[in-house]
Amino acid sequence: MAKKGNLSIDSENIFPIIKKWLYSDHDIFLRELVSNACDAITKLKKLALVGEATLPEDYKPAVHVNVSTNEMKLEVVDNGIGMTADEVEKYINQIAFSGATDFMSKYKDKASEEQIIGHFGLGFYSAFMVADKVTIDTLSFTEGAQPVHWESEGGIEFEMTEGDKAEVGTKITLYLSDDCHEFGNEYRIRSILEKYCAFMPTEIFLTNLDAAPVEPKEGEEPAAPKAVNDTTPLWTKHPNECTDEDYRNFYRQVFHDYREPVFWIHLNMDYPFNLKGILYFPKIKLGYDSLEGVIKLYNNQVFVADNIKEVIPEYMMLLKGVIDCPDLPLNVSRSALQNDGFVAKIQDYISKKIADKLSGFCKVDREFYEKNWESLSPFVKYGCLKDDKFCKKMTDYILFKDLDGKYQVLPECLEVKPIDDETEDGVEKVEGEIVGDEAGETVQEEEKKDKTIYYVTDAVQQSQYINMFKKAKMVAVMLPDEIDMPFIQQLEMKNEGIKFKRIDADIEDAFKAKSTKKLEEELKANTEVLAGLFKKVLKKDNVKVQVEKLKNKEISSMLTLSEESRRMQEMMKQYGMMGMDMGAMGQGDQTLILNSNHKLVQYLLANQEGENVSTVCEELYDLARIQQGTLEPDAMTKFVARTNKILGMLAE
Ligand code: ADP
Repeated sequence: MAKKGNLSIDSENIFPIIKKWLYSDHDIFLRELVSNACDAITKLKKLALVGEATLPEDYKPAVHVNVSTNEMKLEVVDNGIGMTADEVEKYINQIAFSGATDFMSKYKDKASEEQIIGHFGLGFYSAFMVADKVTIDTLSFTEGAQPVHWESEGGIEFEMTEGDKAEVGTKITLYLSDDCHEFGNEYRIRSILEKYCAFMPTEIFLTNLDAAPVEPKEGEEPAAPKAVNDTTPLWTKHPNECTDEDYRNFYRQVFHDYREPVFWIHLNMDYPFNLKGILYFPKIKLGYDSLEGVIKLYNNQVFVADNIKEVIPEYMMLLKGVIDCPDLPLNVSRSALQNDGFVAKIQDYISKKIADKLSGFCKVDREFYEKNWESLSPFVKYGCLKDDKFCKKMTDYILFKDLDGKYQVLPECLEVKPIDDETEDGVEKVEGEIVGDEAGETVQEEEKKDKTIYYVTDAVQQSQYINMFKKAKMVAVMLPDEIDMPFIQQLEMKNEGIKFKRIDADIEDAFKAKSTKKLEEELKANTEVLAGLFKKVLKKDNVKVQVEKLKNKEISSMLTLSEESRRMQEMMKQYGMMGMDMGAMGQGDQTLILNSNHKLVQYLLANQEGENVSTVCEELYDLARIQQGTLEPDAMTKFVARTNKILGMLAE
């Protein structure tokens, strides 16, 4: 019954191309063969379940992967459904080969392998990436089936003959090509199995055919072979069946991270699509860790790839986790996936789950939430920046740390009183009137208007202002991270009325002496006088001077820079535009505040021609600047010399 055939495409150049494309990912041939073997077993078990196949009494479903360096071969053996000659003809000769043909015609013109995701669909044929010759020996489970032997050299021609396989199932043998000897190595194969097949649903055993079988010691039972995979990974179980310890162990096993995760979310969804997985929030110590997570994508327990950004939103890649989604169309190109409505739904689902879990913590276990906020914060803020829906859900559950180290959520920062649930009771709903929840929200919205949140980015640099804030019992929050700036800008954009203002942007009314008409006039006149004086001494056009009467008598001078100017400056710095003319919008907007309640300022006002005037002016200016950071080397040298001179006067 020998049958010969040809692959019906122009196959001359198929291998160089397939090899080149898949070069970076040669390993996946084994995943394809082993997952075919697992599928064959699953099919047989299903048929047995509905009474269409009978399993031997001691049936133990298993896939055996056997390697031999000596013979340069690799076998994948399963005791699954097997194939009849007709099926080999149909599934291998026509489907597997035509799958390769399809693959070729689809991707021939695509320049890079990047565009092919997971390479699913190439299936059995990928064996030819690493082997010159491939044979199939198979016996179908059907009654009276004849064994079939199939072989092909180079995957272009094939030959089918009667085989001699005695047990039901399939054995695929790869005779490795010269440049692929590595796949005859037990350790190499083990590492591929661990990567791609670690959670496949049937037990997989690896055997080195060259090694002598290990004889059990006298009187001892032979050790039971150990499967390389875990057939029921945690994500396939129902969350109710899993303990915290299970989740932690699984985390260690998969991500090799020996720190405990902060918490996890078990995704378990059947409808409208099938998705299971576990997402972990790793512990982050800011400043030490680079924020790099990994999301492993599986398709029915078969590993596809890490961090497929077309499927997993970018911000979620800060997490560590596994996602198994059998419904994902993984054999399409990446660019197609990006525009896939289905993928968008998956992302929405995951993002909603995360937001629900986080806001839930904030509501019911605030202590835990606060304790772990440092680890959660980069993720939440990044998520808010990248995903509008997530941002909307999370806005009220973002924590801000105040100057005493106490956490507040945004509504608390804005001093919005929470809606009192009890007052809703008994309120009759009249059409056209806003009552209950809606009324509460309206009030909340109103109160949100024109609310300013003061913030500190650098506790050292802004310490002078922090002291003033504390003294005046005013609240400011810490926003020290790089992500905080774009993050608050986004909050301002999305929430009308909310404004963030760095505490050194202005001298707040609370710090000033009570304003009277007389005082206003006095300050105005003083400002005029001292502005002239400073201009003369400093010879700087861009220093604006303003005299204020501050309650705190110990402060002589300070600098403020309006929020808008500072943000503009930062933006320019970011875009590398610092070298450009900054006069108008940068330094120029800095204001030197002089406190008329301080002796030195009073001295200047009284002695404009005095001998020490220029020394005092320069010193006041430098002192103000030094509170905001350090001085340029030149200015610093002068400051130190001048200060020494002043102190020298004390000793005279
Ligand atoms: P895919 O697995 O994507 O369908 P493949 O080229 O890998 O494509 O395989 C083609 C078909 O060959 C499979 O769908 C299956 O019907 C059959 N087949 C492959 N390997 C086996 C096996 N080990 N046992 C039984 N049937 C198999």
